[in-house]
Amino acid sequence: MQPRDLSDLSPYVPGRGAEEVARDLGMDPDDLTKLSSNENPHGPSPAAVDAIRETAPRVGVYPKASHTDLGEKLAAHWDCAPEQVWVTPGADGAIDYLSRAFLEPGDRILAPDPGFSYYQMSARYHHGTVTTYPLSKADDFAQTPDTVLDAYDGERMVYVTTPHNPTGAEFSRDAIRTLAESVDDHTLLVVDEAYAEYTDTPSTIDLLDTYDNVAVLRTFSKAYGLAGLRVGYGVVPEAWADAYARVNTPFAASEVGCRAAIAALDDDDHLEKTVETARWARSYLRENLDAPTWESGGNFVLAEVGGASAVAEATQRQGVIVRDCSSFGLPECIRVSCGTRETTPAAVDTINDVLAEVVA
Ligand SMILES: *Cc1c(COP(=O)(O)O)cnc(C)c1O
Repeated sequence: MQPRDLSDLSPYVPGRGAEEVARDLGMDPDDLTKLSSNENPHGPSPAAVDAIRETAPRVGVYPKASHTDLGEKLAAHWDCAPEQVWVTPGADGAIDYLSRAFLEPGDRILAPDPGFSYYQMSARYHHGTVTTYPLSKADDFAQTPDTVLDAYDGERMVYVTTPHNPTGAEFSRDAIRTLAESVDDHTLLVVDEAYAEYTDTPSTIDLLDTYDNVAVLRTFSKAYGLAGLRVGYGVVPEAWADAYARVNTPFAASEVGCRAAIAALDDDDHLEKTVETARWARSYLRENLDAPTWESGGNFVLAEVGGASAVAEATQRQGVIVRDCSSFGLPECIRVSCGTRETTPAAVDTINDVLAEVVA
């Protein structure tokens, strides 16, 4: 027996984990600096850790109240109706729920190239097809309305990422408005704000009062340091928010995840420290890496190093894991996540040593 023809589907290529690299190299994972997956180098909020411990004895029940509590808390946070908040297993889950809600077989999506691969994967899982709009190194990966509209041809869903992964470039708020107004009535504009905590550009979420063709994705995986728990959400217009009940996997996010997310939302100090560290580190990376880099609104910096896979392998042998961007279609670039003030300078030294050797 065989599954259906899956040849159009390709596996997600994640950044390498510290434990798998440590096993390969026979090293202690604690001796590695992992700057490959844009995680929070401070880890989760201590309040979230307490919530996880407190929830542990209660995981025998389905997460009903906790789901409701998290949705309501997020609605209060964003000043929207609770129905507009679609709690999901990671922002990836929100991408799937939007695919389920919007795509008929054969419908097309428009996604950035380079870009986050899950937009395309999810569309294909849901029997959609994919077209892309190019982001070009020649103009520093600029994200303007025309970047998207030049390629736009009536697709059912259009994805924009701001700040963008892996380039760090942003769309202005005006650009998002222009896009929402320029696409056809049947096109959903999905604004992925996975890294929005790290930038000063305000969220698009309040524009949902004005536009009913925009959805915004957010996650607890990045600035909130809860990547291992898989909690994210979409915020959608009130007009079609009730589609959630028809497309969600029952009990989408776990009891532990919801309780940890609720606690994390209350810990402003941890978020502030996280954002402050990331802003320091991205300046440090840009000033000190011996390679061309791009301005970033996220907690990472893209650097042009030549042969990215050779560079990433060499830094890894010296305990610094960075993201080889070949799978993004940028085989000459690595993406370096922001570490702490303690780990970042030594990591930069390691990367620079490798660059000196590779070039020499
Ligand atoms: C990390 C990331 C996400 C989602 O991550 P989850 O862990 O599924 O919440 C979504 N979009 C982009 C661009 C990302 O980098």
